[in-house]
Amino acid sequence: MKTQKSSEEKSRKRSKLDWLKLRFKIWQLPKKVSASEWADESRYLDIKMSAEPGRWRTERTPYLKGIMDALTDRMVEEITIKASTQVGKTESILNMLGYVMDQDPGPALLVMPRKEDAKTISSDRVKPMIELSPALSKHLTGYDDDITNFSIAIDRMTLYMAWAQSPAALAGKPIRYLFLDEINKYPPFSGKEADPIKLATERTRTFWNRKIVKVSTPTIEEGYISREYERSDQCKYYVPCPHCGKYQVLVFTQIKFPKDERNPETIKAKRLAWYECTECKKAITDTMKQKLMIKGKWIPEGCSINNKGKVKGKKNYTTHRGFWINALYSPWLTFSEIAAEFLSVKGRSELLMNFVNSWLAEEWKEKIEERKPEKLKKLALEYPAGTVPDGAIVLTAGVDVQLNHFYYVVRAWGVGYESWKIESALVESWEDIFLMFNKYYPSEIPGIEPFQVHLVNVDTGYHTTEVYDVCREWVGLARAIKGKQDLGGMLYKMTNLDKYPNGKNMPGGLKLYNLDVTLFKDKVARFINTGIEGTSKWHLPRDPSEMYLKQMCAEGKIIERGKRGPGREVWKKLSSHSMNNFWDCEIYATAAAEMLRVYALREEDKPKPVILKRPEKARKGGGWIRKQGDWSKRG
Ligand SMILES: [Zn+2]
Repeated sequence: MKTQKSSEEKSRKRSKLDWLKLRFKIWQLPKKVSASEWADESRYLDIKMSAEPGRWRTERTPYLKGIMDALTDRMVEEITIKASTQVGKTESILNMLGYVMDQDPGPALLVMPRKEDAKTISSDRVKPMIELSPALSKHLTGYDDDITNFSIAIDRMTLYMAWAQSPAALAGKPIRYLFLDEINKYPPFSGKEADPIKLATERTRTFWNRKIVKVSTPTIEEGYISREYERSDQCKYYVPCPHCGKYQVLVFTQIKFPKDERNPETIKAKRLAWYECTECKKAITDTMKQKLMIKGKWIPEGCSINNKGKVKGKKNYTTHRGFWINALYSPWLTFSEIAAEFLSVKGRSELLMNFVNSWLAEEWKEKIEERKPEKLKKLALEYPAGTVPDGAIVLTAGVDVQLNHFYYVVRAWGVGYESWKIESALVESWEDIFLMFNKYYPSEIPGIEPFQVHLVNVDTGYHTTEVYDVCREWVGLARAIKGKQDLGGMLYKMTNLDKYPNGKNMPGGLKLYNLDVTLFKDKVARFINTGIEGTSKWHLPRDPSEMYLKQMCAEGKIIERGKRGPGREVWKKLSSHSMNNFWDCEIYATAAAEMLRVYALREEDKPKPVILKRPEKARKGGGWIRKQGDWSKRG
C-alpha cells in the first residue's frame, strides 16, 4: 500500500516537474544575444542591394558593432548616428530592426523623409531582409493582408513605415522602437507645425523600455542630426597606429599624397595616398586599415584611450549614445579614393560642401566674416578707376536695372581668379549703359590695346521686356539674367525664351540665364575675405566711393528656416532700407566671368604690347537702339 502511494506521489511529482519544465520552456527568454551577434547569425544580404551578398559579417565594418549593440544595452534609450554615406549605416538600422523582430518584439516605426523613401525602404530593403532570413521569415503570418506598403505585421509585432511630412502618420499608435532615418532631410521646424522628430518621439512615451534611433549625414550646424549628436555622449571611433600604437580618430587632414601630384585620377589609380599617424608621422596604408578597425574602440567625449587600449576619464552618465563616423573608416573606400574625390571638388563650393557632408560627415561652415567698409577699403590699390592694371586679360560687367536708373560694375579678370574693379556707376538711361558696352578702357601698360567689356549680365527684375530687347540686340555681349536661391548645386542654368509655336527652341533666340545667387555671393565673399586676410586677389582702384563700399557690405548670411530642409543659409540685407545694388552688380559680373571660364586663363593669355591704333569702328548696336541718337559711335 505504502509503495503504491509513494509511486503515485512520485508520478504526480514527476508530472508536476514535467509541467514546470514545459512551462519554463514556453516562457523562457530567448537566448541572450546582442544585435550584432544576431546579425552575424541570422542576417543575409540581398544580391540586388549589396556589393557583398551573403551572410552579414560585422567584422567587415567593426565600428558598426558598438552602434548596433547600443540597441541591446539596457542603459541606452536613445542612439544618434551622425555618419557619412558609405559606412553601412542603413544596413545597421536594418540589422537592429531584424533583431527587434526576432528577439525582442514590440511595435516599431521607421520614419523616412518622404513618402517615396518610406515605400522604397519597405519594398526594397525590409521585405527582402525578412524573406532572406529564416530567423525572420518564420515570424510571417502567411496572411497577405498583414503586409502592406507601409506596414508589416508579423506574429508578435507590427512595423510601420511613415514619412516626416505627414503629421498624421507620425501621431498614432504607441510605439516602442522608433527609427528615424536621414533626419536632416525632414522638413524644418517652422513653429506652426510640430517638429516631426518630437511628434514621432511622443508616441514612445508609454514604453519604459523604448529605443529611439536617429540617423543622418550632417548638413549645416543647425541641422537636426548635429543638434541630437550634441545632446549625446558624442562617441568617436579610435583606432591604434600599427607603428607606434597611438589610438586616434581618423581625420581627413591626415591623408597625404605626393606633393607634385595633383591629378585625382592618377592618385586613385596608382593608390598614391596614405594616412599619416598624428603621433609618429609614419604612413598607414589601406592594407593595414582592416586590422586597425578590428582593434578600434568607441570613446565618449571627455575620455581618452592610452596606447594599451585602456580608457581613462570620467564618462558622463547618459542614456543617449551618439556615434560619429566618416568615410575614412569605410572598408569600401581607399585613402586614395578619398584624396582624389577631394581634389576633384576643390574650389567648387557646391561639390566641396557635399564632400564635407557626405564623405567627412562634418557640418559645412561657410566662412563669412562680417564685412566693414573700412576693411574693404584696404583692398584698394594705386591704379585709377577706369584704367586696366597689368595682369588683366578679360573684362566683364554686371548691370542692375532699377525703376528709373541703372547701376553697373565693370571688373577685369586675370590668371588664378585675380580681379580688379575697373569702374562702377549709377546712371540714368540705357544710353549710358550702351556707352559702357562700347567703351575702350585704357591699359596701365603702354603699348597694350585698350580693353572692351567681353560679357555683360543684365538683371531682368525691372523693365523685363526692355532688357530682353537689349539682349536680343546685343547678342553675344549682353545676357539676360535672373537670380535664384537654389539651382540644385548648379551655378547657373540656361533656358530658351524664344520658341516656335510647336514648342521647339528658335535657333539663335533669346536665352535667360538663371543664377544661383547664394553660390555666387558665397564666391564673391570668399574672394573678398581672402583679400582682407592678406593674400589679395580681389582689388579695387584707388579711392573707392563710400557708396560703393557701403553697398558691398549691405548683406550678410543668415539661417532661414524654409520648407526645403532643416534650415539653409541665405544672403539677406542686414537692414531693410540699406542699398545693395553694387553688390548685386559684382555678383552678376562674377557670374559673367564664370560663364567665360576665366578660371582657365593662363599666363600666355596676357595681352602683349602692340603699336597702338586708334579704334575706328565702334561696336554695332542696331535697330531701335540707333534711333536714340548716334551715341553708339561715341566709344
Ligand atoms: Zn604612429
